[in-house]
Amino acid sequence: MKKKSDAPAAVESGLFGDLPTPPAAPARRDGLLFFSYSRLSLYEECPLKYKFKYIDKLPEEPKYYFAFGSSVHKALEFLYSVKAPPFPTAEEVCEAFRMDWERKSYLEKGYRTQAKADDDYRKGLAMLKAYYEHNRAAFRPPFLVEYSTDVAVDGLLVRAISDRIDYLGDGRVLITDYKTGKDVRREPAQLYMYQKIMELDPALKERIAENYGQRVGSVRIEKMLYYHVPSNKEYPFARASDSEIGGFWERVLETAENIKGLKFDATPGERECRWCDYKSSCPEYFGGHPRPEEPGAPASSERIEALVDRYGRLKEKMDEIKAQLDELAASIGRAAGNGGSYAGDSFTASVTKIPKWEFRDREAVLGVLDQFDLYQRAMNVTVAGLSGLLDSPDLSAEARKRLLEHAVRKTAVEIKVVRKPGT
Ligand code: SF4
Repeated sequence: MKKKSDAPAAVESGLFGDLPTPPAAPARRDGLLFFSYSRLSLYEECPLKYKFKYIDKLPEEPKYYFAFGSSVHKALEFLYSVKAPPFPTAEEVCEAFRMDWERKSYLEKGYRTQAKADDDYRKGLAMLKAYYEHNRAAFRPPFLVEYSTDVAVDGLLVRAISDRIDYLGDGRVLITDYKTGKDVRREPAQLYMYQKIMELDPALKERIAENYGQRVGSVRIEKMLYYHVPSNKEYPFARASDSEIGGFWERVLETAENIKGLKFDATPGERECRWCDYKSSCPEYFGGHPRPEEPGAPASSERIEALVDRYGRLKEKMDEIKAQLDELAASIGRAAGNGGSYAGDSFTASVTKIPKWEFRDREAVLGVLDQFDLYQRAMNVTVAGLSGLLDSPDLSAEARKRLLEHAVRKTAVEIKVVRKPGT
């Protein structure tokens, strides 16, 4: 049963007191609601999670398994993007994998350590080499790779993305989805979505006409295939019956109606919440337990354990984010020369370089302060206090010389970012 969310509505000050903030609207184009298989499955998992991701647009944690799968897909896309043989060599496919892999740091990809990322990198290379050897005798250029289409149907604009489509003649196609996880689970909703949307897609008929010179009245998904790259095994699925597709589509329309009606009640559960990135924003999550009735109520020992876990997870997250921010700030600092203002798609940044002192040997610095009776002048034995002392013009030459023996001049990068209006 669905639980009601007791999250207080956001408020803003109005002339006559606090006014509730109107809820954010779901994204639309030309009055059509954006939809996809992933949106459906996320809403069915937890409507509040859907809202956090697609409406509030709260950032998600990077997932290393997505990063890994994405780089393998990029390499396969490179392999199959040829219009006619010869195909790229195995080395060139591995190089495509490497180039995509190196676009992001291990933290940006969602790995906790460089060693784990390196391990997966080696696994990816081995996987692609094995794939290449297993399939090289049967290489043939597919009809389409990484085909993405948006189809308007029943008030929705549904996006479907297919890894690979092969043309079988007479409007019939085979769709292949490459899987890189540990195992392959049949995902009926994904298969139904492919069948429903690709068969309605007018652009696909146009592409058949362009590529094969055949004007077909309709497209028919003859077969669908999950290809498990780690094991080089194929999992074929026959096309779904009309009644299966009909039942599935009713489910889609009901979900879309709920989204349009802004129904985002949380459905917390062990499985749903475990991998959810929005626990810290979620009023329904309390270490996997229902939130206590009274916010100030004393926590039981069980709840303290849950709080400790939650605190630990957030602290880990914060440390990882801090490391990523430091790495990015250093890269921006190197690229920005003496500083200035820069604009990305969504943010503008003003970058300032600030000279600063760093002190290496605390005991030695304390000795110098003691020798020249400077404790009082330093105010605090902190970097700021010592920097002020070093920079003051009336410090004796000898004391400055001795302090400088333990100081290094560095450059700090200060970055102020502002989101661009309307992004
Ligand atoms: S923590 Fe659980 S209840 Fe809250 S949004 Fe995530 S999945 Fe839904």
